[in-house]
Amino acid sequence: MKRIKSSGNNKCDICESNNWLKLPDPAPSHSVTTSGKIIDQPLGKSLCSKCGFVQRNLFLFLGHTDYYHEEYASYYERPGTEEYHRKRYQALLGWMSRYLPENHEFKTVLDVGCGQGWMMDEMLSRYHDIEISGIEPNKHNSDIAKRKGHSITETTIEQSADNKTYDLIYSNNVLQHVNDVKGFLYNMKIRLNEQGVIIVTCPDGSRPSIDLLWSDHNHSLLPEHLVRLGRKLGFEKVYVTQSDNNPSIPPAQLLVMSNNPVYSGSSLEEARVPVREINHDYKSKSEYLESFRKLNKYLAKRISGYSNVYNFGASYWTSVIAAYCPDYWKRVEACVIDTQDSVNEFMGKKIIELKSLRKTDQNVMVLGTAPNSHTALENRLNEYSKIIKWDSFFNY
Ligand SMILES: [Zn+2]
Repeated sequence: MKRIKSSGNNKCDICESNNWLKLPDPAPSHSVTTSGKIIDQPLGKSLCSKCGFVQRNLFLFLGHTDYYHEEYASYYERPGTEEYHRKRYQALLGWMSRYLPENHEFKTVLDVGCGQGWMMDEMLSRYHDIEISGIEPNKHNSDIAKRKGHSITETTIEQSADNKTYDLIYSNNVLQHVNDVKGFLYNMKIRLNEQGVIIVTCPDGSRPSIDLLWSDHNHSLLPEHLVRLGRKLGFEKVYVTQSDNNPSIPPAQLLVMSNNPVYSGSSLEEARVPVREINHDYKSKSEYLESFRKLNKYLAKRISGYSNVYNFGASYWTSVIAAYCPDYWKRVEACVIDTQDSVNEFMGKKIIELKSLRKTDQNVMVLGTAPNSHTALENRLNEYSKIIKWDSFFNY
């Protein structure tokens, strides 16, 4: 294991150690963000040898650039996103609502990093009498949320001048992107009413997943890290729960913090903090990241001999294999999707509709979708092309 003794200001946000174990880079000189942008720096992540916290500590966080203000919007500009996000946020609210204050005893609500207001839409459709507002730094996204009629402040919570307080403050899938996890949570806390509840969801770092692969995910947190952060902020009640093992959703965790003596969070148990084997954790994350070199070779071999190479899909997993399987990606002629909309290009490849494919035995199509979808897709698509799946490499 390669240890990095980093400079004094590069301490672990959780335990303040500065002994980092370098994690492998899936590509030597570039990486990809959740918005599908290739940046010319490797992932550059390391794991704290004391507590297992993962941080992108070899490069400046993208949050220190204009990435979120200017470039993050393309995250939402993808084929079929409307349907995808609607379902995703409905499921997320189903999970989150189990930990909302009992008897709907909350009126004022703040959504931190609300994007285009998807979760605010869902909240209002379920809780009609709440007063909800959002904070979102990206102009394009906050404009869309405003056009839907939401009350949005276009900034980050750290920079917000809002001094109102709220009964419920929640944030979905933002914590892994922020520059300073403690500062972010602190800024939620100071806007919370005395009896209020904070709910934060983020990827679950205890199960290696696509979360590790993005250069705009600055951190991967274990459940025990969330517990420590909540305790440090002085919350009496700090609960963490992990999502079920469901291959269609990347593993997630949910943190609840409150000082309300009667809040029982649907009788949540506090996360048991296992004595974690840091070496085991390091090994499983390293293996996950190294799998991309093997996948690149595997795909390059499987497509050789075919004249027409297609990629099925134009979303997250496609951007990951585009970035980290270059020998495959350079041969891709187009991304194929079921129904084309106004988006014509993805990661430099044109997008075409499935029914426009001419069926020949010279076609090969690699599935650029989540591994759990592969078996069903193979059965559906094999009349058009030879299909290559790679779900034996990853679960998430
Ligand atoms: Zn640490």
